[in-house]
Amino acid sequence: MGKIIEFPPAVRAKYEPVIGLEVHVQLLTQTKIFCGCSTQFGSKPNSNVCPVCLGMPGALPVLNKKAVEFAVLASQAIHCQVRETSIFARKNYFYPDLPKGYQISQFDKPLAEHGWIDIPAAGGGTKRIGITRLHIEEDAGKSIHDGFADSDAYTSIDLNRTGVPLTEIVSEPDMRSPDEAFEYLTRLKEIILYTGVSDCNMEEGSLRCDANVSIRPVGQEKLGTKAEIKNVNSFRYVREALEYEIARQIELVESGEKITQETRLYNPTEGRTYSMRSKEEAHDYRYFPEPDLQPLVVDARWQAEIRKTLPELPEARRSRMVGDYGITEYDAQVLTSSRTLADQFEEAAKASKNAKRVANLVQGELMGRLKAANLTIEDSPITMKGVAFSADLVEDGTISSKILKDLYDKAFAGDEDFPAVYEREKPQQLTDTGAIEKMIAEIIAANPKQVEQYRAGKTTMIGFFVGQVMKASKGQAKPELVNELLKKHLASGS
Ligand code: ADP
Ligand code: ZN
Ligand code: MG
Repeated sequence: MGKIIEFPPAVRAKYEPVIGLEVHVQLLTQTKIFCGCSTQFGSKPNSNVCPVCLGMPGALPVLNKKAVEFAVLASQAIHCQVRETSIFARKNYFYPDLPKGYQISQFDKPLAEHGWIDIPAAGGGTKRIGITRLHIEEDAGKSIHDGFADSDAYTSIDLNRTGVPLTEIVSEPDMRSPDEAFEYLTRLKEIILYTGVSDCNMEEGSLRCDANVSIRPVGQEKLGTKAEIKNVNSFRYVREALEYEIARQIELVESGEKITQETRLYNPTEGRTYSMRSKEEAHDYRYFPEPDLQPLVVDARWQAEIRKTLPELPEARRSRMVGDYGITEYDAQVLTSSRTLADQFEEAAKASKNAKRVANLVQGELMGRLKAANLTIEDSPITMKGVAFSADLVEDGTISSKILKDLYDKAFAGDEDFPAVYEREKPQQLTDTGAIEKMIAEIIAANPKQVEQYRAGKTTMIGFFVGQVMKASKGQAKPELVNELLKKHLASGS
């Protein structure tokens, strides 16, 4: 990171930072918000365009219903109240990547308001961050300043992104440190990913953040003058930019100067923010109701229908999983870091013979190895299915915990999933038909009730018998052979 201005802690402690974030999230619709053009990222420049998104005179917008449903779902996930009737508004400004000369957005009657999300508080527990509003708007195009032979003389424009649906989520100025801002973004992204309305891919611009920050003397109620840092493209950079900006503002105030309200840009290489322009006010945009679109009505029935599709959200899921599987808060946090991962874990755990054992293996054998290999759980060579598979082998007595550890090491060393390693490495197998039949005879004699059930048609009981034989043979018997012999003996009544 670049140079952070350093103060004696006593100077720093005189001021309280105040932070509010504006987050743009691209909605994962197939087509744009007011036309049928594709939203595909990475298409040939200016190939996904039509008269509507190019802003040709007379072309009329038609609202994409899916975009509305996604925005409502996102609103519900962050506890916002959805307005029955919201209004689209024109935000007028001139910029080369905005062919219409205005952006269709929402202004004084946004889709949703008064939400919140909880973030972990520094001293333990949680802190609630208010969400002012969530509104729907269209994206602008992209100016490309370099990469072409004539880039020193011209700026190129790609209008594929023009008209891609966005929602903007505006927080209250409730955060008090760059760390809280980082947590807020992390939680917000996690929630949005769970709803599935966006992929939140920051490199592709599906999630963009503007960070507003001011300082005030500790104890003062009135907010200070804020700076807005535009379009910071990673959460880490948001934290760094805020650190820098807070220090810059303290330095100004300490030397008797005034903070000017302005828009700034962060340069991550230098670790500094730069003034971009003085802040524009709402009236500069001459907002007025969009005459080409009806008011948007999302009535209670439609809202309820959308709410039905709301998945269990990360926080609720975490506490449930702690209860269901007896795992720690921390591990629940890791296992729910993505919905896919949590789904995979729960699916594997439920399909296994002992869900708790799967959880224990994740906790006891997987996490440590991932940490040592500097891997995230998403990149784990052993999948959740693989963990469940290994858990069942231990459960059956097919392999010992010691062999399991050994096979886990091999899986990590060779970047292979557990079943593959097991298939190759599995301990010497017992293929002596006579010896296996002897075990089968004993097991049949010892379990008359299960035999009766099997013969009465409950053929799934075969699993029980296979397990018994595997146990008796200390995991050495060849499972296919065991299966074949069991079927023969169970059927014949011998
Ligand atoms: P603007 O009129 O500049 O768009 P808004 O009141 O709409 O300002 O707020 C934009 C964002 O800035 C919100 O996330 C809000 O919480 C935050 N914000 C507003 N005032 C301040 C302040 N004084 N210090 C820090 N953040 C602020
Ligand atoms: Zn179009
Ligand atoms: Mg504003």
